[in-house]
Parts: sequence; structure tokens; C-alpha cells
Amino acid sequence: TITEEQRTQLRHESLLIRSFATVAGTRTTAPNIAIQEQATTRADRDQAQSAVGELFLIPIKEDDALLGLLVTTNLWPGGLRRAEQVEILARLGQTIMRRYFQERRLQQHENDLWLAREMLRLKSIADCATDQPLDTLGELTSALCGSSEMDRAALYLFSRRATDEAEPVVQAGAPLPPTVAGEWRAHETRLIAATATAIHGQFLDKSQLESNGITTLWGQAAAFPLRIGGKQLGSLILSRRSRNPLADRSNKLIEWTADLLAQTVHRIYRDASIRRQARHDGLTDLANRRTFDTLLAGEVDRVRLGLSEECSLLLADLDRFKSINDRHGHQAGDEVLRVTAQLLREHVGRMRVGERSLLARYGGEELAILLPGVGTAGALRIAEEIRAAVHARTIHYGDQQLAVTVSIGVASCPMHGIGAADLVAAADQALYRAKSEGRNRVCRPQDS
Ligand code: GH3
Ligand code: MG
Ligand code: MG
Repeated sequence: TITEEQRTQLRHESLLIRSFATVAGTRTTAPNIAIQEQATTRADRDQAQSAVGELFLIPIKEDDALLGLLVTTNLWPGGLRRAEQVEILARLGQTIMRRYFQERRLQQHENDLWLAREMLRLKSIADCATDQPLDTLGELTSALCGSSEMDRAALYLFSRRATDEAEPVVQAGAPLPPTVAGEWRAHETRLIAATATAIHGQFLDKSQLESNGITTLWGQAAAFPLRIGGKQLGSLILSRRSRNPLADRSNKLIEWTADLLAQTVHRIYRDASIRRQARHDGLTDLANRRTFDTLLAGEVDRVRLGLSEECSLLLADLDRFKSINDRHGHQAGDEVLRVTAQLLREHVGRMRVGERSLLARYGGEELAILLPGVGTAGALRIAEEIRAAVHARTIHYGDQQLAVTVSIGVASCPMHGIGAADLVAAADQALYRAKSEGRNRVCRPQDS
């Protein structure tokens, strides 16, 4: 250990000698120079100090800047004057030092280059527009796992409900033998809990892992919360068996990629939500008119092209809905609409009428149901079930109990129309008939 005073001294001198004087068996050590190399115990240290009579400190300088210090217990080569010895040793030190700094600079450049290249590679994966966002996350995570010399990487995401546990959506890295897979997973879960309370990510060495209750398998890990604007979307956990410290560049890459992953997940969620908003109605969460028109046209086309035999359309309109608004307020009306939509959704879901079936908000208080592959008879039966279910339902709003009924017009393609517009007109006509015949009923188009 060099004091500031000695440092100043070394700037002006070319040699400093520290002596360890021995006075009648008791040693007085040089106060500011501790010999610690290879001396692990106090006894070793004392031994080392007692063996050394003098220490020669030769400053290594470049343009007056002190680069380092050559410390030796002997001056050499023998047979030369001390000044010459010091001169030679200083030059030797200088050469070694220059080389060392050069190497270090070179290494630094190489690391910087490597990091820039890896970041670019990961960024281009993240930026790749795809309709398979999970693939993007998988590719990113496994690229990071490989580059950062971790054995495994796992990406966990929270679902929208905050109470749910984070789920592993990506597992990357070396395949685990079945005997340890469960344990490895359990370790990850432990670290997820740790990231939930941490603002920043952390690198954990063996002892830090142990204080987190992870005593087997892992020698090292990194646990990063994926946060955007304070909200945690998920966690990134990297782990490996080796205890060897990670290269600095790996640490940097992991930190950077955790941020990139957070942004990517955020973007995926946002895109999905925008896409959903564009296709759905905000009040009822049913498909909106635009989505319905597109899918109806597609389904009618399928029938025309002979890919499907038939399809049916149900138009359901809430009866005397205006009076609900008038009597109980617009918000009560909204609630009735929402509950009715939900009732229909459950009903259609239970009927298993094929995955191309669609429930949509067609207009204000008008809902439409598209039933591919279903003919008039089937559609009339389904419509009747829906009508009865709505009729039987009581809707609670505040302390009020509301009831509503629906009238439903049913039309089928190709029987009542071969184009989308024809089919809608036919269903509309049937609906009008249901209204005029007293409401709360199902009608088909009048034979013409
Ligand atoms: P009918 O049995 O003939 O269908 O009578 P109705 O009162 O249901 O029909 P009308 O077309 O006269 O009125 C429809 C009402 O639906 C008027 C409108 O204010 C209301 N409405 C449309 N969309 C919404 C909505 O999103 N929320 C609420 N609360 N009311 C809505
Ligand atoms: Mg109505
Ligand atoms: Mg209406």
C-alpha cells in the first residue's frame, strides 16, 4: 500500500528504499508497505516480512505520469552500479507496462466491437416484424443465452391479471436432463420472486444464490425484471453451473438485452391491443361491424365457391331498449347491453358451432351472429335458444332488477340470399317481422 506522500515522492525520485529494521529480536515493519502476496495468514505475513531486509521501489513513469511501480527485494544485474541497475529496471518496467496497456486497450476495443456487433444482431432480431411474436422472443432469448455464456435463459411473463404468477414463455439453452429439470425450474421461480421487488436486475454469485435459497446446480445467475414505466411485464432469468465470473462484456450484454426484451414485449402487447381495439367494440368486447362485414363476405364467398354448403345469419335486436334508457338511465342501458352480449357469447361458445362462427355488435343495440355450415333449421333452433335465454335472464343494476327480450331475424345463404348484402337484407326483413308480430320472437324471411 502506497501513501499519497510516497506517491508524490516516487514522482520525483527514481528509487525508494524501505528497510525493515530488526532491533534486538523485535521487528519494526515499514508502516506503509504491507507484503501480502502469497501471505494468507498472519504468520505467513510475518515470515515474509522478516525474510525481507529491504524493498526497492522503482517508479515506472511516462512523461512524468506515474504508471506503476516495480517492487523488488533485489537490484540486478549484479556487478553494476546502483544507478545503472535502477535505470535498467525502470526501462524494463516501462516496456512491460507499455505492452500491458497496449494489450488492454486492444482488448477493450475488441470487447467494444463485440458488444456493438451483438447488440446490432439482437436489435435486428427484435425489430423483425412478424406475426409470431413468441418466435421473436424465443430467438432473442436464446441468442442472448449463447452470447453471454450462460447455460440457460428463461423468459417469464406476467399475464394481464396481476394476481397470476409469471409463466415461462421461453426456455433457451442447453437441454436439461429430466433429473434436474424440475429443480432448475424451481430455482428460476425463486429468482422471479426476487425480481418482483427489485428495481434493477442483479447478477448473483454462488454466495448470493445461497442467500436466496439456491444451494444446488447453479454457480451463477442473472435475474432481471422487465419493466416499462414502473410496470413489470415479466422477468429474465439466466443461469449457469460454472462459478467463474462472467466476462464484463457478457454482463453488459445481459443488462442491455433485458431492456430490449422489455421494450419488445411492451411493443408486442401494444400492437396486439391496437389490433384488437381495431377489431372489437369497446362496450361489449364483441367483434365490431367492420370485422363482421369482412368475415360475412368471406363466408358467403365460401358458399358461392362451393367450399361450404351453407351459412346462416342471426340479427338480434333488443326490444324496447330505448325505454330502458329512458326509465333507468343510459348507464343502465349500457349494462343491459353488456350483459346480453356476454350471455350470447357464453351461449355461442357452448354450442360448438365451429371456430369460424362470429358474434358481433352490428349496430347500437343490434347484435349479429354468423353461423358457418349451419342451415335454416339449425339457425332457427339456435336463435330460439338464445331468445329464451335472454328472456329468462334478470339483470342486476345497482338495486334494480332489469329484464329485456330480443327479437331475432334469421336468414341463410344460399336459401335467402347469395351475396352478403342480400343475406343481411333478408335477415333484417325477418327481424322487422319479428318486431311487428309482437317482439320477443324469432322469424325467418317470408317466402316470396
Ligand atoms: P324496438 O323494440 O323497436 O327495437 O325498440 P327500441 O327502443 O329498442 O328501438 P329504437 O331504435 O327506438 O331505440 C334504440 C335505442 O338504443 C336508442 C338508443 O339510444 C339506444 N342505444 C343504442 N346504442 C346504445 C348504447 O350503446 N348504450 C345505450 N345505453 N343505449 C343505446
Ligand atoms: Mg331495439
Ligand atoms: Mg335497433
